[in-house]
Amino acid sequence: MAARTDTFDLGRLRLSSGEGRRLVLGTRLGDFYLGGEPYAVEPQEVEVALDVSRMTGGGYALRLRFEAALSGPCMRCLEDAMPVTAVDAREVNQPGGGEELQSPYVEDEVLDLGAWARDAFALALPSQVVCTPECAGLCPECGANLNTAGAEHHHEAAPDPRWAKLRELRFE
Ligand SMILES: [Zn+2]
Ligand SMILES: [Zn+2]
Repeated sequence: MAARTDTFDLGRLRLSSGEGRRLVLGTRLGDFYLGGEPYAVEPQEVEVALDVSRMTGGGYALRLRFEAALSGPCMRCLEDAMPVTAVDAREVNQPGGGEELQSPYVEDEVLDLGAWARDAFALALPSQVVCTPECAGLCPECGANLNTAGAEHHHEAAPDPRWAKLRELRFE
């Protein structure tokens, strides 16, 4: 595992213009709260590939790639879910190149790798955390897990009124 790096000094690489370097670094993303539920990032320390290119005229073009899983309850059936999300993000930082060429993650050639990785991961996350894309969720009548209850699971009679509340639940 690469040494843990939350900030990285790009100047340390001493790249001349047009030169590039690929680095493998480890960083922590921390936990995420989605719909009020805590989700943990697995692994805690994520291995990332960072491509650094020194641009002609100074500044850097950066590319960050990694995969990490988010672990917590499935938003449909509440069983454990751990979907993997792939991140491929780019930043350009060219001092004096105008506002759109200033990366919010680079300050005096020091890259805030932890903040960039966390934000890029948050942007790449699916809108719903599910155990599998085909997850059938819970039966709206009785709350049974439809993934395990079987295709023949259904209700003949009118539902028990005690379960009426359950039908109003929406797992967003
Ligand atoms: Zn599920
Ligand atoms: Zn049912």
